[in-house]
Amino acid sequence: MSLTRDPAAFTALIQNLRDFIAEEAIPREDLRQAGDGDAMRRIALQLRAIASERGLGAPRAPVEQGGLALSWEECCSFLEEAGRSFLGPAALQCAPPGQPDIAALDQLASPAQRTRYLEPLMRGERHSCFAMTEPAPGVGSDPRMLSTTARRDGDGWVIEGHKWFITGAMRADFAIVVARTEAGPSWFLVDKAMPGFEVVRDIPNIEPFDLGGHGELRFEGCRVGPEALVGEEGRGLDYAQLRLEGARLFHCMRYIGLASRAMSMAQDYASSRESHGARLAEHQMVQAMVADAHIELYAARLMTLDVARRLDRGESIRHESSMAKVFVSEAVNRVADSAVQITGALGISEDAPLSMILRMLRPFRIYDGASEVHRAAIAKRAFRQRLRA
Ligand SMILES: Cc1cc2nc3c(=O)[nH]c(=O)nc-3n(C[C@H](O)[C@H](O)[C@H](O)COP(=O)(O)OP(=O)(O)OC[C@H]3O[C@@H](n4cnc5c(N)ncnc54)[C@H](O)[C@@H]3O)c2cc1C
Repeated sequence: MSLTRDPAAFTALIQNLRDFIAEEAIPREDLRQAGDGDAMRRIALQLRAIASERGLGAPRAPVEQGGLALSWEECCSFLEEAGRSFLGPAALQCAPPGQPDIAALDQLASPAQRTRYLEPLMRGERHSCFAMTEPAPGVGSDPRMLSTTARRDGDGWVIEGHKWFITGAMRADFAIVVARTEAGPSWFLVDKAMPGFEVVRDIPNIEPFDLGGHGELRFEGCRVGPEALVGEEGRGLDYAQLRLEGARLFHCMRYIGLASRAMSMAQDYASSRESHGARLAEHQMVQAMVADAHIELYAARLMTLDVARRLDRGESIRHESSMAKVFVSEAVNRVADSAVQITGALGISEDAPLSMILRMLRPFRIYDGASEVHRAAIAKRAFRQRLRA
């Protein structure tokens, strides 16, 4: 076990979090606020203050920055509990894009970048977004298609490009922009206030509870100094991989929480609703859906836990995190879909949060690598030895 504190203290922490989510976060969920960034920001700040009074904070951040400094393994339980509410991850500063940006910058930022970007980000004083994806013909699933450029200009760079679906862009103070230089894809820290950095719009989409939306951005003649380059020029795709591995794992943990909440609500419904002379819970086809959901959640938890333990041991998780991402993203969607089915018309209404849970989970099969792209990579690695012969 990779615990940063003794088991009793950790159990107490998780119970404290469970109570916070049940007593403070879930009662503040209001589906009418879907897509209303200002309202959600206000509630997230209110919840953050309550969480902090209860000794709850960002799970991976260092203690001196107000965090809990949990191991990846400990994060599995923490994020699952936090993820049960739409509002939990933002309240506990473990929502994307902040959390994976912090993890990546912690390894890559220069001392000046740490002071200007990373530390305020960790304290929740500034917000980031990660800008890689572009509309066609730019980069989507294939990183080689990156078309945003950063051209040398004196001692700095001029960025030109078009990005979209950039989570958190509407409230971000700065972006990590992935752009092509002569050496290859590279990372730049670009303040939103820089001339040439335009926020075109918030793209309306199926997932309405992400703070900061999903922005479309344009960079036209956006000039940045030499200090904007993160790490080494040309290493941008390695860094994106590094950022994504932890991000994927956090998504798995959070969404296991959301899907298990959906199934628990469906079981409540099935325990009291009657049809054809029996409670739904007594019909075998309903029982099968519930049993399959529990089997899938169990497998999803174990795969996520295994990847987390590997990360704690400092092992490469490229292959395993890919497999876990495909399985968990598809399993939580099946579980939420069954929960909606069991709950009938109420399930697809906005009188219950189930339909919203389904909407929150669906995009996970696309971002952080679509299932098909991961399957292609997993199969390629599986065949590598044989096809070389
Ligand atoms: C909610 C959400 C949040 C996002 N946040 C961010 C963000 O913060 N920053 C960022 O940079 N990007 C973000 N993205 C973009 C995300 O990374 C891309 O959607 C993803 O990489 C896929 O690219 P694409 O949408 O262009 O799909 P495409 O590349 O056009 O692919 C479309 C579909 O084609 C299939 N496909 C593609 N390639 C293959 C292949 N090799 N083999 C088989 N099938 C294939 C898959 O089914 C795939 O879903 C976000 C997306 C969503 C939906």
